[in-house]
Amino acid sequence: MIRKGMKLYSILFGVCPKCHQESMYLNKNPYVISKVIKMHDQCSHCKTRYQMEPSFFYGSMYVSYGVGIAFAVAAFITTYIIFETSITTAFISIVLTLVLLFPVIMRLSRNIWINIFMKYDKSLANK
Ligand SMILES: [Zn+2]
Repeated sequence: MIRKGMKLYSILFGVCPKCHQESMYLNKNPYVISKVIKMHDQCSHCKTRYQMEPSFFYGSMYVSYGVGIAFAVAAFITTYIIFETSITTAFISIVLTLVLLFPVIMRLSRNIWINIFMKYDKSLANK
């Protein structure tokens, strides 16, 4: 299934994009709101710097738009089409989904963004 070495592993679990050995975040739980985007400066295993250039993660805002739309569409399909609720209920479910999953969406966007620029390196993982 999803294992180390796959980009999806780094994206879903927020681990170092090059070695997949440790979390990029100070706190693994995204719902500790004060630390939702606090990251280590570099990977302690392979010494990869996560912030490749100043303001590197501003670019993840573009990704978060797409990720947010994906969650909103999923919420809409679930409530309006599968459970056949009213359009108002479907709208409320979209808003609730986006608010409650905001920390998850932020982290997923950062993980996708950094994985666009870095890829898994088996030699670093085995160091
Ligand atoms: Zn690493």
